[in-house]
Amino acid sequence: MKKMTSWGKYPHIDANISAPLSSHMLANEKRNIIARGLGRSYGDSALSENIIISNRLNHFISFDENTGQLHCEAGVSLHDILMNFVPKGWFLYVTPGTKFVTVGGAIASDVHGKNHHIDGCFSDHVTSLTICIQGEEISCSREENSDLFHATCGGMGLTGIITKATFKLRPITSSYINQKVIKAKNLDTVLELFEQYRDATYSVAWIDCLSTGSNLGRSLLMLGEHACKGELTTHKSGVLNMPCDMPSFLLNKYTIQAFNSAYYNKQVKEELNNTIHYDSFFYPLDGISNWNRMYGKNGFTQYQFVIPKEAGKEGLKEILEAIAESKQGSFLAVLKVFGKGNINYLSFPLEGYTLALDFKLNNKLFALLDRLDLIVRKYKGRIYLSKDVRMSEEMFKASYPHWKKFQVLRKKYGADERYLSLQSKRIGL
Ligand SMILES: Cc1cc2nc3c(=O)[nH]c(=O)nc-3n(C[C@H](O)[C@H](O)[C@H](O)COP(=O)(O)OP(=O)(O)OC[C@H]3O[C@@H](n4cnc5c(N)ncnc54)[C@H](O)[C@@H]3O)c2cc1C
Repeated sequence: MKKMTSWGKYPHIDANISAPLSSHMLANEKRNIIARGLGRSYGDSALSENIIISNRLNHFISFDENTGQLHCEAGVSLHDILMNFVPKGWFLYVTPGTKFVTVGGAIASDVHGKNHHIDGCFSDHVTSLTICIQGEEISCSREENSDLFHATCGGMGLTGIITKATFKLRPITSSYINQKVIKAKNLDTVLELFEQYRDATYSVAWIDCLSTGSNLGRSLLMLGEHACKGELTTHKSGVLNMPCDMPSFLLNKYTIQAFNSAYYNKQVKEELNNTIHYDSFFYPLDGISNWNRMYGKNGFTQYQFVIPKEAGKEGLKEILEAIAESKQGSFLAVLKVFGKGNINYLSFPLEGYTLALDFKLNNKLFALLDRLDLIVRKYKGRIYLSKDVRMSEEMFKASYPHWKKFQVLRKKYGADERYLSLQSKRIGL
């Protein structure tokens, strides 16, 4: 037994751990098990009585230089891929805000990046995958066992253990990104700017979620395009380290307000154009190892929701007002635009606006998040499973319309009694 937790450092549980060296060693699986990659999900989706860690299933199998198709084991991390393939002129089509996630984790959460409106989710670039269910390895793709493919992409590990995948990489000629940063004085302005720059490949806005009145939702919008010229170099992240849990009183509404104000005002010009390395553009937080210790020993959570475009502005305003009123500031609040969702059964994105907010855990937080759930539900939105640690079964089932189809599929393959996480039990899967 080993004490385990995830990125939010809540909850902690005792679990039996195994880290098989090859997919053949998955034959003797127990019940009540869940796969785990690098533990970058925030909540309890990779926690269970028995945990299978994929870190030793980390081999590249083949790469086709003509098509950009990479075939590898599921425990390979995005960091490994960048280190090996950027110097050869290849990048990921879709990357989340940290490169320390595995291919298996990226598929199971069907992760999105700053370019969902153009390139969709990670699994939209996956051609095929292999999954181990009750000791048997099954291949699936959009053509072969397509129901299993669409349940597994975004299926949070509940259909079995992904062992291998084939997916496409993007050709690049430089490791650099041409970036434009624009100051937006409030939410209306930033949403108009998102619309104006809808053809930008990458877009994301940092929001000061403690500002109110005419400044509600003031933001810095960051846009990016792959540069054509420059070197093909990689960077070593994690130069700084947060050595221990910070005292949690250091992060309070005053320090958060001061940080937000300083961050917004740091950029004096209304618009800034520069060229930066992909590491700084996509992974600013990876530069500090263990940054999650900043929230103290009680941990934190990320509340990420999406609201359909039609009601987006109204819904976002209502949520930002509720947060500002609660004075439970979020240090990190990130707004992105999603394009059309895909047909994976439990994939999170749907066309609209998604806001991700980090909150330090305290005894008032879950009451605030329950209140936010009601607003998200009113506007027909939903919460991202990969960040969640407390959503109710009712909220989940009301907002993920294909959950019944997902359960039928799990039963068909005998996955429903075997692959379970704390999260799946809480939300009734
Ligand atoms: C700083 C930071 C920024 C982030 N930014 C984004 C973002 O921009 N967009 C986004 O979408 N996400 C983002 N995330 C979330 C992260 O990308 C996902 O949680 C991802 O799934 C983590 O991958 P992992 O390998 O750490 O998986 P884990 O956290 O270990 O597991 C996550 C889920 O995947 C399942 N899983 C893992 N491996 C396998 C496998 N081999 N077979 C079957 N199931 C498996 C687990 O059971 C679990 O349900 C961010 C996280 C952090 C910490």
